[in-house]
Amino acid sequence: MLSTPAAAARQILIRLQEVMAARTSAQAKLNKVVEIIGESLSSEVCSIYLVREGVLELFATRGLKQEAVHVTRMAMGEGLVGLIATNVETLNLDEAASHPDFSYRPETGEELFHSFAGVPIVRRERALGVLCVQHVEPRRYEEVEIEALQTVAMVLSELIANAELADDGPMDSRVQDTGTSVLHGLQLVMGMARGHAVFHQPRVHIEHTVAEDTEAERQRVISAFAKMREQIDRMTGTAEFGTEGEHQEVLETYKMFAYDEGWIRRINEAIDSGLTAEAAIERVQQRTRMRMRQIDDPLLQDRMHDLEDMANRLLRIVSGQLGTAAQLGLRQDAILIARNLGPAELLEYDRRRLKGVILEEGSLTAHVTIVARAMGVPVLGRVRDIRHQVNEGDLILMDVAANALLVRPTPDMDEAFENKLHITQRRRAEFAALRDLPSVTLDGQRIELMVNAGLREDAQALDLVGADGIGLFRTEFQFLVSATLPQREKQQRLYKDVLDAAGDRPVIFRTVDIGGDKALPYMQRDEEELEDNPAMGWRALRLALDRDGLMKAQARALLEAASGKVLHIMFPMVSEPWEYDQAKALVEHQRQWLQSQRKKLPVAIRYGAMLEVPALAEVLDILLPRLDFLSIGTNDLTQFLFAADRAHPRLAERYDWLSIAILRFLARVVSTCHAHEVPVGVCGEMGGRTLEAMALIGLGVRRLSITPASVGPVKAMIRAVEATELERFLKGLLETGVSDIRSQLTAWAEDRDIELN
Ligand code: PEP
Ligand code: MG
Repeated sequence: MLSTPAAAARQILIRLQEVMAARTSAQAKLNKVVEIIGESLSSEVCSIYLVREGVLELFATRGLKQEAVHVTRMAMGEGLVGLIATNVETLNLDEAASHPDFSYRPETGEELFHSFAGVPIVRRERALGVLCVQHVEPRRYEEVEIEALQTVAMVLSELIANAELADDGPMDSRVQDTGTSVLHGLQLVMGMARGHAVFHQPRVHIEHTVAEDTEAERQRVISAFAKMREQIDRMTGTAEFGTEGEHQEVLETYKMFAYDEGWIRRINEAIDSGLTAEAAIERVQQRTRMRMRQIDDPLLQDRMHDLEDMANRLLRIVSGQLGTAAQLGLRQDAILIARNLGPAELLEYDRRRLKGVILEEGSLTAHVTIVARAMGVPVLGRVRDIRHQVNEGDLILMDVAANALLVRPTPDMDEAFENKLHITQRRRAEFAALRDLPSVTLDGQRIELMVNAGLREDAQALDLVGADGIGLFRTEFQFLVSATLPQREKQQRLYKDVLDAAGDRPVIFRTVDIGGDKALPYMQRDEEELEDNPAMGWRALRLALDRDGLMKAQARALLEAASGKVLHIMFPMVSEPWEYDQAKALVEHQRQWLQSQRKKLPVAIRYGAMLEVPALAEVLDILLPRLDFLSIGTNDLTQFLFAADRAHPRLAERYDWLSIAILRFLARVVSTCHAHEVPVGVCGEMGGRTLEAMALIGLGVRRLSITPASVGPVKAMIRAVEATELERFLKGLLETGVSDIRSQLTAWAEDRDIELN
């Protein structure tokens, strides 16, 4: 009977080691391996399937009919074995035949066996094959047994790769296709870049998986950890963004992993099972990867990338294969390519040569995206299989706004790109020249142009682009980039820094909009609080009012940070007036308490609500008299109006912001606000697009809060537009109900030489 996972695997590995060392053929070794595993797990069947010419072939078996060896072949994705190989995941079933993917092969005689467990044999994150066991009795394999199988699979991958028995992926070979490719991805950080492909990290090649001296392997891990901690501590002190701010918090997360005793313990357990230090680190990482894949939580996935970053670092140290592209140094303008990248790894690059980043993974809320944005480096994420489509040194042109990646472009393409880049730079210079000019239409209408922000560094954008203030400060960013809940003092420091940077210009702080897809890993949720429909779920003000401790702390931090100044505070996702009343009362209560403590208070507080939930529009006459301002969040509003998830790639372009439904809705809200003399603005992404911004002005909107990069182009449009004429034109379009408002507005602008980009 197998006791612990380490002991179980160790027993098997000791026996396997002799087999591996024997001077026999690879086939003979595999035959022996299935015997040993079958015996050790008391399984009637043990089989090995390997990927050859893209198909899974039965290579060795104990228990199935021998005639089936090299005869039974399955496509990737076919049957249970195909499923394991395709998904690179483990299956453990007490009744194999009842699984929907079960595919019966009469030549094997497997109808006798009920239970089934299979693990992928992985190399470089791809399956080389599948190792499986079967049992006559219907029973689930125990965790200990599965762990032992996974460890054995790891050792087998070495044997199989060395003997070149299976297809070994195109990783080492150069990409065959040397023609031009156009790839797309997820737009993470806007910008254009031209450079040569550089792979962030040559994968560490694990030479030996079975240890000869377990104690020596333990020592190697201990000293590798010490070295890694030293590196992280050094980075914490020298990050080029200084030691303050969110980047510091990112490095804190790294530190947390570097000092994580649980991680070290798991690696040591893997070493106890007979693996080398390298194999043990990889083994633990594989296991974590598999576990994480079952948890569908984007935030946890982001933390997983941080851990991957650390595991790769550890592997490089322990194996002596040290050089990342950053350490080797960039020799020319580079576009960096990685599956994913940790923010600390990104910080190691020479900023003068690093022009762009392409990731196979990546998400908008990932730490690395936040850091890249602060560095001004364009990033395109979720570019599938990029590492297999590009050769080191290939020329790449990145145009994130156009969502286009040109790999190995023709000279014509390169020239066109250079022209566009040149025009963009020239236009940027023109926009910069507008910085100090007023944002006024031809007929004298003043349009307030504010920026959206969320990080300390973003406040600098105010001066850079000449904005009127911060129209939306997303306070939840600080919560999202922290490994733990930011303390009130820390919040207060951030708010004060932002207010100081803004000077006399207003900063509208939105209270935390967490929950939904912006989940905080450190905030526990009860069972009934888990949701299928997070965007429409328990988030933003709903969550903040229910868990009011967080909101109270934030209110105090805001009140104290704004002492002696005007505090603008805005609540997200207000759906009914009482939610706004309750939130305002909470802040007022904190204000009174601070007053009783004789603390210095803001000279005034202006309260606002976000209109993101359509229902609120129907009760504006009730709410508006209580408000100082209203801000329309078109990102959420449009997803609720059209019932279309804002993050769903298939729906991204299905509905137009310039649709008649949205514009009529907005027109009604804006005129209700005017009737109540309450200032109204738009702070969703819609306002940052020139044509859409023009439409909003046509609806009577006089305040926009947009991404800093859009201030120049939008201001140029404003200064070329006659607002009264535009209002009349748009009113006509909305009354007649034309379906192509976008093209009508574009034509209207073109007739008047109004530039839309
Ligand atoms: C919005 O929903 O339009 C908005 C500005 O808020 P967020 O994008 O942060 O949800
Ligand atoms: Mg919103």
